[in-house]
Amino acid sequence: MAFSLPHIDSRRPYSPPFSYKDKSATAGGARAVVSSYTAVALAFLRQYPLSRMRHASPRKIGQENAALIMLVRNSELHEALTSMRMMEDRFNKKFRYPWIFLNDDDFTEEFINYTSGMASGDTKYGKIGIEQWSMPQHIDQEEVERRMEEMVRKNVIYAGSMSYRHMCRYNSGFFYRHPLVAPYDWYWRVEPGVEYFCDLNYDPFTYMRENNKTYGFVMSMYEYRVTIETLWDSTREFLEDHPQFIAANNALDFFVDNHSPSAEGDTTISGNYNLCHFWSNFEIADLRFWRSEAYQSYFDYLDKLGGFFYERWGDAPIHSLAAGLFLPKSKIHHFGDIGYRHPPYARCPQVESMHQSGQCLCSRHEHFDDDGYSCLPRWWKVAGKSPGADVKPPEI
Ligand code: GDP
Ligand code: MN
Repeated sequence: MAFSLPHIDSRRPYSPPFSYKDKSATAGGARAVVSSYTAVALAFLRQYPLSRMRHASPRKIGQENAALIMLVRNSELHEALTSMRMMEDRFNKKFRYPWIFLNDDDFTEEFINYTSGMASGDTKYGKIGIEQWSMPQHIDQEEVERRMEEMVRKNVIYAGSMSYRHMCRYNSGFFYRHPLVAPYDWYWRVEPGVEYFCDLNYDPFTYMRENNKTYGFVMSMYEYRVTIETLWDSTREFLEDHPQFIAANNALDFFVDNHSPSAEGDTTISGNYNLCHFWSNFEIADLRFWRSEAYQSYFDYLDKLGGFFYERWGDAPIHSLAAGLFLPKSKIHHFGDIGYRHPPYARCPQVESMHQSGQCLCSRHEHFDDDGYSCLPRWWKVAGKSPGADVKPPEI
């Protein structure tokens, strides 16, 4: 019997004309007719499995060379799907940017099947090389253990976790070089178990490119000092050796209270670090910045010092200090129109029209900005913005 393939619109997820699990297909008087359809469908599905059809490429609609990146464990599958569902509903189904999943372990088939089922764009799964997820040779392991015990005694969060240290080091210096990530210019970092509250009706990657932005964030707060005891001094030392990387009009005044940003020709970084940083579990940024000579040599310098292991340096303060000092502050963008929760904090946009139009589902009062732990009021001051005035970029 001849049959024609169902029409497959390459821009839309394929949905079969009926489900082969349909119980009615094997019951009642129409059994013979239906079962011949079922046989054809089964033969078709064997040849063209749904998972492969759904990923017949290319289906991307968004115009930018960008990807959504999630570093994640198999055990976080449900949380990964939660984040994906919201990201797809609020933004990505309109653009179908690809998802890249990275893991220090092999992804399970279940993880791959379920996440690729949730994605509107292509999905890619990468394993991280062991050399990027282990202690480098030059690190004194006994010293690391001693320091870890000391931090555990002080009840520092994640003090006793070695995998957390590998994760922070990986996010600081390696994710942007992973072979699956290497072809891209832009990324949106997504973590398992986060929420996006508002429809995003424009492409933030396009916004970043057209407005000459490099780094985008939503929330900003203080780092635990015990986890980065020597990071600021190490950063200053690095910049003494490499003053050419200090940008004019950088965000030094965000990191050091009552300081002015560096002007053209300033080659010193002075003052004490106030611990403010951008919360890096959300990032929309230009991968080329991390691949730049400035950032790469900064990371290499920090990695030699070993603070990822001896202390517990996070990727958030490292990304923040680099973006804040190697870039003019005009290249850093606060996405005040992106509603976002990463437990335990959330930020609901303060743009009135986004609430009146039903674009957001979050309480306007849940905005973290007046929490004593937020650094956003400082950012507004530094960036010359009026406090609380979220700006909604024009919809592109
Ligand atoms: P927190 O946000 O600082 O509390 O740390 P998380 O536990 O959320 O970790 C940050 C990100 O790294 C999340 O995307 C995690 O899924 C991921 N992550 C943390 N530890 C590991 C790990 O050992 N293996 C993998 N593959 N991902 C990890
Ligand atoms: Mn997290």
